[in-house]
Amino acid sequence: MAIAGNSQHHQSSAELGTADFAAAALASAEPYSDAEYFAMTLAAAMQAQTAGDYGIASALVIRSHDTELIGLGRNAVLSTRDPLGHAEVNAIRAVQSALASQRAGRAHHARPWTGEVALGAAAGVVFFRPARPGLPGRGIESLLYASLEPCPMCTVAIISSRIDRVVVAALDEQGGALAPERFARLPLAWSSLASQQGFVVDFASKESAAAPIPAKLAVRLSEAFSSTKDARDAEVSQGVLLNGNIEAAIAQLVT
Ligand SMILES: [Zn+2]
Repeated sequence: MAIAGNSQHHQSSAELGTADFAAAALASAEPYSDAEYFAMTLAAAMQAQTAGDYGIASALVIRSHDTELIGLGRNAVLSTRDPLGHAEVNAIRAVQSALASQRAGRAHHARPWTGEVALGAAAGVVFFRPARPGLPGRGIESLLYASLEPCPMCTVAIISSRIDRVVVAALDEQGGALAPERFARLPLAWSSLASQQGFVVDFASKESAAAPIPAKLAVRLSEAFSSTKDARDAEVSQGVLLNGNIEAAIAQLVT
């Protein structure tokens, strides 16, 4: 019976490891859909987790009339000892660095999108592909996908970037700054700049139906963070930048 078949299929998909689940979600998602970008962030979040970082990732999508850039960033705070190495910052940095090198006449750093997320040792990379068919012929569209609700630092970076739309998968009640009740506590300079820009925030989590993605994908995105949180928090509490034998490192720098 079809029901039995479906139920078996359901069981095997639930048993997939999250990296395999992300690859399957990426292969089956409709191109240019929110679910596709979130499948990319899930794959990148798993690479962050493997590197010893928080399982968080972000995709900054920039669309011109014929080309789409996808800056994919993963959390790299602990592996690179970078307190600023949040996923959203790394996605923004990747795009900024590609655009800056192009402006400076140097070889660009964008890679053709082949359907596979492979960050290697990088905290962020930029892919390019043809723009979504049917886009208006003029103007630039920018979207940021965040596997976890961005923190205050990333929220300010997003507002300063002038991104049109942000889509958040998992809410972060303790550290996030974009859910309405937390965004309301942001310093006025940033919240008023955001409203001047007509900044749109959608939540893809099950609490909101505004921008739903498949429920299983939302759960995996949430778990990618929650399964790493306690262990990484313990490491961060020891200090990210000024940790280890700093005196020896300084001494080596000047010899
Ligand atoms: Zn952040």
